[in-house]
Amino acid sequence: MMSQAHPSTSPHAESWVFGANNPDLGLPLQHLPYCVFQSIDSNQPHLGVGIGACILDLFVCAETGLFDHIPADIVTACSFPALNPLMDLGPKAWATLRSEIQALLSTSTPLSSDRRLRTEAALVTAREAIFSAPVFIPNYTDFYSSIDHAERVGMLFRPDQPLLPNYQHVPIGYHGRTSSIVLSGTSIQRPKGQSKPVRSEAQPGFAPTTSLDYELELGLYIGQSNPLGTPIPIERASSHLFGISLLNDWSARDIQSWEYQPLGPFLGKNFATSISPWITPISALGPFRSPAAPRLHHLAESLPYLLCRSDQHAGNLNLILEVFLVSLEMKKKSIAPVRLSRVCARDLYWTPAQLIAHHTSNGCNLQVGDLLATGTISGPDHASAGCLLELTSNGTQPITLPTGESRAFLVDGDEVILRGYGEASGHPRIILGECRGTIHSG
Ligand code: MN
Repeated sequence: MMSQAHPSTSPHAESWVFGANNPDLGLPLQHLPYCVFQSIDSNQPHLGVGIGACILDLFVCAETGLFDHIPADIVTACSFPALNPLMDLGPKAWATLRSEIQALLSTSTPLSSDRRLRTEAALVTAREAIFSAPVFIPNYTDFYSSIDHAERVGMLFRPDQPLLPNYQHVPIGYHGRTSSIVLSGTSIQRPKGQSKPVRSEAQPGFAPTTSLDYELELGLYIGQSNPLGTPIPIERASSHLFGISLLNDWSARDIQSWEYQPLGPFLGKNFATSISPWITPISALGPFRSPAAPRLHHLAESLPYLLCRSDQHAGNLNLILEVFLVSLEMKKKSIAPVRLSRVCARDLYWTPAQLIAHHTSNGCNLQVGDLLATGTISGPDHASAGCLLELTSNGTQPITLPTGESRAFLVDGDEVILRGYGEASGHPRIILGECRGTIHSG
């Protein structure tokens, strides 16, 4: 039997806000991503929710009594200029706030004229907003969950054994740095670093990287902590996840390949990571759930602590992700950004819940606001490669831009734009908040 959906949360519910029912904006009543923003007439950043061409200012909603029906701790969390206090309240509180917002914005809920006027007063035009960091991020971990990425990168460096034997069993990850996480639109300085000597007896180089790359990833925001020493079981892992966003894990391949043995990535990675200002809540992703990727014949089944029926059934996300590039030359000639690749996130070998269960399986404590990144998301075919390292075979097969310029890796002035969306029949389309960054010389 079908469960009875609340009228404002049904896939057919529409909003009266300008642009909310326009599929090109991807911000219907069923999406409602969070951000922290400042409008021209406020001098403080406020928590907000995207709807159509507008942002609903949650601080103003709280101040003007629009949230008087919901528990006071949720209203207090809405007045804070970051998502952490709301995250800390847990999934029930997230659901309460979401359905209250949906009721305010839906055409199918009767609003008193006074409430409607106050809601209109809490809406600002998204185009005029200046964004700031949506979450205070205590810790950042980057994984390596795309087997297609792991295999193709492995093929470049170890053609005889592209996939290391541990890959099929253990979600590979490393601890990144939060201090250099920057918001979309922040320009990225080309890092300097050591690179491998040309001859074995020569000194290594120390210069601006000549192999600057992007990595198309999804960021997973942890909304619920676990105490040190207490693993999160796979069955409960998804309830610890608050939301997702696009993330670009910039990488300097020459620095990375010289420094990574035997301890792993370091300065080739931690100079910058860009995040979208928008976080799509997990509750908006129900229609875009997809089964865990099947294990092909040569791969073993995961260990029991990484397996549960619900996660295997619907643990992955059927979201299309794209990378675009626009060079300075293209901008001068008004040429639109060119798409470099397109991939579906459901191809990931490890699901978000498996990453959470594995990360805490030794008792490691995740904190509210922690950011887990999936690792570069690539698909099985070449056109779905999530970084230039793969697309250009480590720079040996440059790609050609519409201007005739060629790219082995990124050059100064290049802007990389990550986009993503979800489509499912019978549901309105959602578009993830984009993530951009332009390279400038070091
Ligand atoms: Mn990465």
